[in-house]
Amino acid sequence: MDFSFSEDQKAIIEAVGRTCAGFGDAYWLKHDREGGFPHEFHKAMAAGGWLGIAMPEKYGGAGKGILEAALVMQTVAASGAGFSGASAIHMNIFGLHPVVVFGTAEQKARWLPPLIRGEHKACFAVTEPSTGLNTLKLKTFARFEGDRYVVNGQKVWISTAQVAHKVLLLARTAPAETSKPGEGLSLFYTDLDRSKISVREIEKMGRKAVDSNELFIDGLEIPLADRIGVEGQGFKYILHGMNPERILIAAEAVGLGEVALERAGKYAGERIVFDRPIGQNQGVQHPLAERWIELEAAELLVYRAAWKYDRGEPCGADANAAKFYAGEAGFRACETALLTHGGMGYAKEYHVERWFRESMIARIAPVSPQLILSFLAEKVLGLPKSY
Ligand SMILES: Cc1cc2nc3c(=O)[nH]c(=O)nc-3n(C[C@H](O)[C@H](O)[C@H](O)COP(=O)(O)OP(=O)(O)OC[C@H]3O[C@@H](n4cnc5c(N)ncnc54)[C@H](O)[C@@H]3O)c2cc1C
Repeated sequence: MDFSFSEDQKAIIEAVGRTCAGFGDAYWLKHDREGGFPHEFHKAMAAGGWLGIAMPEKYGGAGKGILEAALVMQTVAASGAGFSGASAIHMNIFGLHPVVVFGTAEQKARWLPPLIRGEHKACFAVTEPSTGLNTLKLKTFARFEGDRYVVNGQKVWISTAQVAHKVLLLARTAPAETSKPGEGLSLFYTDLDRSKISVREIEKMGRKAVDSNELFIDGLEIPLADRIGVEGQGFKYILHGMNPERILIAAEAVGLGEVALERAGKYAGERIVFDRPIGQNQGVQHPLAERWIELEAAELLVYRAAWKYDRGEPCGADANAAKFYAGEAGFRACETALLTHGGMGYAKEYHVERWFRESMIARIAPVSPQLILSFLAEKVLGLPKSY
């Protein structure tokens, strides 16, 4: 067993860290206050070649694994960019995974290079208001008419749709009643045609830099050439990408917890109350030390899940466990960091309140803690399916 990073992995961490250093606390604070997509950061990450880290070399990517992609995302979050930075590139890094695995050579050549170069931004449209986590019941319908599909329906929580050029869309192509379980949904990657999709931003708790939206889809036309794989198999394609997505979100949560903990340690060492640094009190030290242990454990879960994925081994339980535990560990680290700052934890200028708000994302999305526990209870512990 080798727990050390390779020279290549160390170089990735250092280089991403250097790029992120150009976007300090003030940049992210401004975007968190005022909103507005962090285009400069997205551009810098594209210029560094990081958007194609896990994409095939043939199409301009670096051809690395999900472990390397996780290191990129962890480093971004840990730089202080948090989820404001990570979510700005998350979809570019991972989202087109179904195209990489199931797309035709023509589709890959058409779609991947502009995404990797940062010219196209893409959003990922799965969640619907009336079906929630029960993805198999999605209602947005893509009806085949001659040589194209015509789509009508609604999506919710779709991140980056304000700025995206493309949408990866999961829609029903056969009624739920007449489809076999797991079939009847199809996956498309197509232009986000704003004359047929109206996009309404959701005002939310944090991560104002990266918008989340409701989409109202009215007569969107999708050429046959923009369907990924076989009609009716879209859910399987999405499932295939779920493990890497969980791994990356988990890595981002670890990075977020790390930066919060680092700032808390610094503050605890400098803040003098009762004539000594607050960090000299065990009541302040111990929660911080516990959070460190939790983040280390979460990191190991993330790396193991990524390592298994890259070796082609089953990693569903590992990826879900990593996402669950990292989500909780990241949140707890941010909460402890905020409390360590006392009143200043509540002040924007110390940044921990921003990370605390962002830390909820890794718990909620893309799947809730309850559903992960239900999945593990069923698949690992052999208990009856509960959902
Ligand atoms: C900031 C943010 C960004 C997002 N970005 C995207 C995006 O880009 N694209 C996209 O498609 N989606 C996105 N989402 C959506 C996200 O994936 C969903 O919010 C998430 O999957 C939960 O679905 P829901 O909100 O409909 O919850 P619901 O399904 O309504 O569930 C609500 C609660 O009930 C619980 N629950 C439901 N059924 C059960 C059960 N059987 N057993 C136990 N508990 C249960 C859940 O665990 C949850 O706690 C985003 C969400 C957020 C907050």
